[in-house]
Amino acid sequence: MIARVTLEIALRKEFDYTIPPELAGQVEVGSRVQVPFGARKVMGCVTGLAEESAQPRLRPLLKVVGTQSLVTPGILKLARWIGEYYCCAAETALKSVLPVAVRREQANWRARLQVRATAPGEAPKLPRRQREVWQIVRARGELPLRELLALGKTTAGTVRRLEDRGLVRITAEIAERDPYAGEHILPTQPLALNPAQAGALAALREAMSGEARAATFLLHGVTGSGKTEVYLQAIAHALEQGKGAVVLVPEIALTPQTVERFKARFSAGPQPTLVAVLHSHLSAGERHDEWHKIRQGRARIAIGARSAIFAPVAPLGLVIVDEEHEHTYKQEEAPRYNARDVAIMRGRMEGAVVVLGSATPSLESYHNCVKGKYRLLTLPERADGRKMPYVRVVDMRQTARAEKGIPIFSPQLKEAIARRLEQKEQVILFLNRRGYSSSLQCPACGFVAECPNCSVSLTYHRQEQKLCCHICAHVAPVPAVCPNAHCRNPAIRYAGLGTQKVEAALAKLFPQARAVRMDSDALKRKEDYRRILGDFRAGQIDILVGTQMIAKGLHFPNVTLVGIIYADLTLHQPDFRAGERTFQLLTQVAGRAGRGDVEGEVFVQALTPFVPAIQFARRHDFVGFYQQEIEFRAQLNYPPLSRIALLTLKGRNEEKVKLSATHLKRELEKAAGELPGLVLSGPAPAPLLRAETYYRYQIMLRARSMPALSRRLAGITQELPLPDGVALSVDIDPLDLA
Ligand code: ADP
Ligand code: ZN
Repeated sequence: MIARVTLEIALRKEFDYTIPPELAGQVEVGSRVQVPFGARKVMGCVTGLAEESAQPRLRPLLKVVGTQSLVTPGILKLARWIGEYYCCAAETALKSVLPVAVRREQANWRARLQVRATAPGEAPKLPRRQREVWQIVRARGELPLRELLALGKTTAGTVRRLEDRGLVRITAEIAERDPYAGEHILPTQPLALNPAQAGALAALREAMSGEARAATFLLHGVTGSGKTEVYLQAIAHALEQGKGAVVLVPEIALTPQTVERFKARFSAGPQPTLVAVLHSHLSAGERHDEWHKIRQGRARIAIGARSAIFAPVAPLGLVIVDEEHEHTYKQEEAPRYNARDVAIMRGRMEGAVVVLGSATPSLESYHNCVKGKYRLLTLPERADGRKMPYVRVVDMRQTARAEKGIPIFSPQLKEAIARRLEQKEQVILFLNRRGYSSSLQCPACGFVAECPNCSVSLTYHRQEQKLCCHICAHVAPVPAVCPNAHCRNPAIRYAGLGTQKVEAALAKLFPQARAVRMDSDALKRKEDYRRILGDFRAGQIDILVGTQMIAKGLHFPNVTLVGIIYADLTLHQPDFRAGERTFQLLTQVAGRAGRGDVEGEVFVQALTPFVPAIQFARRHDFVGFYQQEIEFRAQLNYPPLSRIALLTLKGRNEEKVKLSATHLKRELEKAAGELPGLVLSGPAPAPLLRAETYYRYQIMLRARSMPALSRRLAGITQELPLPDGVALSVDIDPLDLA
């Protein structure tokens, strides 16, 4: 037998190896293997088995990793599809389907030494130390060696002597790491569903039981409408059918709060391993154990961020993609897959039902419902009968005129904060930019402090007293006077604002209030996030100021006021999705208000208060927003009415990059004849021309359907000769156009 192996080093080719007799029976499609390659040993994945090979002289495989094939045939097929659709090498796609901790065998099961009493009753005469230790073991029957050493204040040598006397036995056992071991989670029971939830669940159950089980649903439910309860009961149905489920949540929403809801329903009872969590905050060892729990079938529900879509749940009955519109589902490096779209493909391949859930669906998904490709399920009201918060839009141009310069708080918002503080209620203030001010500018000569590596201005961070680039993290000292040698103006000014400035302004306006900032600068350690949220829940914080980190998924009943400091920040970006993004963000942030007994109130401050994204968000009107936005997309031939591929060339030498882009454009034009409806634009400098010292030029392709374009692009880009120092990336269905 011959094993066909895809090597981890990107060669876009399979290599054949013989299977030596001692490994016979251990090698199957999906096995991780180590093979000789030249003088090196490299890792790879068996992607096929064959009787004979076209290559002469084959070398044997060296080693098989793990006792079970790590990549199941289903996942292998999915990886192949990713390679083809997203135009990347098969080995790049294959690499992404296994967590590093599993792939590299860098982590393994942790063995734990266990001490067990073997002789009952009294032992013969023993030295005092040994006797004490022996008594502990006898009382406990069995305990971990480590614990025994601590309890008996003794050494392993003493325990070994007891073993020599035949009184105890020391054995190595697998000790599974459980990242949630310390938590005491109380089990929950299914809630009685309201009619909208019951209708949605019935449709899902029917699809899961039907013959043609592969079906995609969009569950559109306002924030707090009880989507999670529908997920939980649909998962229970999958389990009843003997199948498992994969639940995807955005990384940012993978909070203990979310995980706990799933564990409480399925893992708090007699089967504690039923839910496995795949999370980037876990240690390599924990990830290894969680993954293998799924592979061995002891965990039937995998919950995690983007890459959890590759969790080896089998058989798979259900895939849930919560907050399906979230951009974190898109991987911004090769393979540039979108986990939501991979989920739909996996569901189709494995006959599983896929549920996309959101309060603010992506235009793509909603459009697919309109076209009849997905089925729409709607939860129009909050599950607990509470009203949607009242949203007021404040025209900041008036305040700006009255105050000169950019104001932070309108009089209305100030007054509202004061009132809520007086009533001992809590406030969330949102601004989508960290730092103190967005740029440092000299009013005399016009100098702006810019990043030496990127085409952006540096952000002033007052607390740390530094200037910082938000693209490449370059740090520069804060100048006391204008650095321009001809100017030296001491009155250098900070323009624009960030969360630090909001925090500082709050301290002045409401010195008695306890305000805490939550953004990636404020969170230095991973526990900070939990600690701040814990303090906020306990009422030890009155006002939480933050970036998108606080926009999603948080449920705090005592928050009655949400203030959005500038709704325009996301709006005026060179991206056709800017309006959609603003609508989503406003709706999500507004959803944090009024989740308790007191009705919530939201203030949206804006310099352009009448744009549709803000007005539709104010009325909680997603469908209205969709209808007007889809027209705009149609006029400009943008997704979802077309499909986009974005080709980016980058390099340190701008001329070389430009030339390569022009050359690529010519090659694409030659192929355009075979692809009806193809529209090419560019090459043009990327909106962010320079990032991390690289110049970037882009070509955008718009097509009616993607697979044909992907295939053609793979050919062209592989054959394209590129000068040294210029690299090309292909992004299919891009979300980030900068
Ligand atoms: P979503 O996921 O849509 O944001 P959640 O599932 O978090 O909504 O539900 C919001 C709140 O409503 C939660 O506190 C949840 O326990 C409660 N809830 C959900 N469904 C019901 C129901 N059928 N009856 C009573 N309360 C419910
Ligand atoms: Zn930079």
